[in-house]
Amino acid sequence: MDDAAATSERRINALAVSHGIGIGRLVFFKEGSSPLSRVETGSPETEVERLRLAAESCKAQLNHLIAAGLSNPQPHVIDIFDLQLLILDQSSLLSKIEAHIRETGVDAESALKTVAGELVGRQSKVADQHLREKHIDIADVCNRLEASLQGSQPAADNIYAGAIVAACELRPSAMLELKKCDPAGIITERGGWTSHTSILARELMIPMVSGIGANSGTFSEGVEVIVDGKSGLVIFDPSQSTIKDYAAITVSNDTDADEPTTVSTSETLDGHRIAIRANVDIPEDYDLARRFGAEGIGLFRSESLIAHPGQIPSEGEQISAYRQIAEVAGDDGVRIRTFDIGIDHLRGNPTRTEVNPSLGLRSIRLSLHEQTHFRTQIRAILRASLNNKIDILLPMVSGVAELAGAIQMIDEERNWLAGHDVPFGTPRIGAMIEVPSGVMTSREITRKVDFMALGTNDLVQYLLAIDRDNESVAEWYQTLHPAVLRSIREVIDAGKDAGKPVLICGEMAGSPFYVPVLIGLGANELSMNINSISQIRRLISGMTLEKAVQLIAEIEGSETSEEIEGILRAFYTRHWAHLFPNGLLDAKHR
Ligand code: PEP
Ligand code: MG
Repeated sequence: MDDAAATSERRINALAVSHGIGIGRLVFFKEGSSPLSRVETGSPETEVERLRLAAESCKAQLNHLIAAGLSNPQPHVIDIFDLQLLILDQSSLLSKIEAHIRETGVDAESALKTVAGELVGRQSKVADQHLREKHIDIADVCNRLEASLQGSQPAADNIYAGAIVAACELRPSAMLELKKCDPAGIITERGGWTSHTSILARELMIPMVSGIGANSGTFSEGVEVIVDGKSGLVIFDPSQSTIKDYAAITVSNDTDADEPTTVSTSETLDGHRIAIRANVDIPEDYDLARRFGAEGIGLFRSESLIAHPGQIPSEGEQISAYRQIAEVAGDDGVRIRTFDIGIDHLRGNPTRTEVNPSLGLRSIRLSLHEQTHFRTQIRAILRASLNNKIDILLPMVSGVAELAGAIQMIDEERNWLAGHDVPFGTPRIGAMIEVPSGVMTSREITRKVDFMALGTNDLVQYLLAIDRDNESVAEWYQTLHPAVLRSIREVIDAGKDAGKPVLICGEMAGSPFYVPVLIGLGANELSMNINSISQIRRLISGMTLEKAVQLIAEIEGSETSEEIEGILRAFYTRHWAHLFPNGLLDAKHR
C-alpha cells in the first residue's frame, strides 16, 4: 500500500486556472472581513478621534496632490482637489459623521457610509448638472476618508499569509486585497478559466484551482492542502511523502524562472513580426513585462480603479492613475479600456438588481446611459494623454450606432476642454469586438475607429452562450469552436482590408496552444498576462508563419472543437514538440 492510500489524503480534480504549486493550511475567505477591514468598534470618543485623524490624513494627501499638480500645471486638477479640500474643511460632512457616531454608537466607517449615502444620494438628484456632478467629488472624498480610516486601525493578524484560501467565489477587488496577504494558493467553488478572478490570479502569480464545488466545506480550517494550479488537482490532508514530492516540484520550478530579455521585438523563424503587449492593471507590474519583452500595454482594465462597487474615482484621481500607467508604458503606449462594468457595480448596489447582468446595462451601453461617469472618464483620459501615448478602448461594441454615440460624446468633451483652455492630447479610439454582432459588423465598425481589439474571453461566452464564470459549463466553453475561429478570422480580415490594426487581448492570446492558430489566422498583435510573455515569445521565435498557415489549412472544414484540438495536438507533436515542454500538450484545450 502506498503512503497516500495509508493516510486520509483526499484528492479532487477541478479546473486549473493559475499555474504553480501552493502548499498551506486551509483558511476560508471571510467576505467583508478581510484582514484589512476593521473588526471592533471603539467608544464614540475613540471613533471620533479616528475620524479626525483620517480627515487630517486626507487633507495632507490632497495638499500633496495639489502640490504635485502645481509642478505639472493642470489647472482643472488643482480645482478638483481644492474643491475636495473645501468639502472636508467647510462642508458639514465631518460634523454629520461625528454626530452620527455619538447618536448611534456605531464605528466611524459605518457612520461615514450612512452619511455619505444620504449626501451623495441627495446631491445626485439636484437639477443643475454642474452641482449634480459635485456628488462625484463628495463620493470621492468619502472614499478617501474610508481608505484613511482603514489605514488608521491597528493591523489585524494576517490569517491568509501562506494559507490556501478557500472561497465560494472571489471578486477581483477581494483578490487584490488577498494578494497583499500573500496566500500560498486559492481554491474556489465557482469560476471559469476566463473569469476576471482567474485572470488576476495568473497576473498575480497565485496558484489557483476553481470549480471544486462544495468540497472544501467538508474539511475543517487548518487542514493541510496542496493546490496544483497546473493539473487542477487539490489534495486535502496530504501524506508527508506527497508534501515532500510537491515541495520538490516547487523548488525545481523556482529555478526555472523566466529570463528577462534584451530583445524587445518578437518574430517567427521566417521573419514575421508579432507585437507582444501586456495586459496590465498595476503600473508597477509593467517594469517586469517590459523586461520580458512587452511592447506597451495592450489592455488596461480601468475598472480596476474601482476598489469597491460604487466608488468611482473622480476626474482628478483618474487623471493621476492614467498618467501613471502611461508613463510606465512610455512610447509603446497604453490602451485604456473605459469602464467595463454593469449598473450595479457603478451604483454600488449591494444586491443584484438585474436578473442577467452579462446581458444587461453594462460596458458601452452603460456609458451611453450614465453619461456623467463616461464623460468624466473621457475628460480624464483626454487630459492624461497630453504628452502621453494613450488610446481609448471602448468595450463590448455591438454595432455602429452605439459606437457613433460614444465617439460623439468624446468629441463633445474634447470641445468642452478646448473651450475652457484645458490642455489635452489626441488618443486614438479603438473598439473591442467581443459579441457576435460586433464580429458581423466589424467591417463597418473598423471604418469608424483607429483600431480594433478582439476580446476572445467574452467572444467565446457570447458566441456560444456559455457563462465564462460558471465552471459547471466549462466543458462547453470551447475556444476552438469553428464559430469562434471563423469569427476571429473575420475580424482580422476586416481590420486588414481597412488597414487598421487588430489586437487580440483575451486569454487565448497568452496560451501557447492557441497562439499558432491566431498567427495562422493572420494575427500580428497579441496582448497577454505578464506571466505568459516569455513562453509565448519563445514559441513565436521557434515557429514559422508558413507552418501556422498550413495548420489553419489542416483544420479547415473541421466540424467540432474536439476535432480541431486533435489536429492541433498532432501537428504540434509532429513539427514543434520541442516548443511545448512540460506536458503542455497533454492538457485539455478546447
Ligand atoms: C475579453 O473579453 O477577452 C477581454 C479581454 O476583456 P475581459 O476579460 O476584461 O472581459
Ligand atoms: Mg471582455
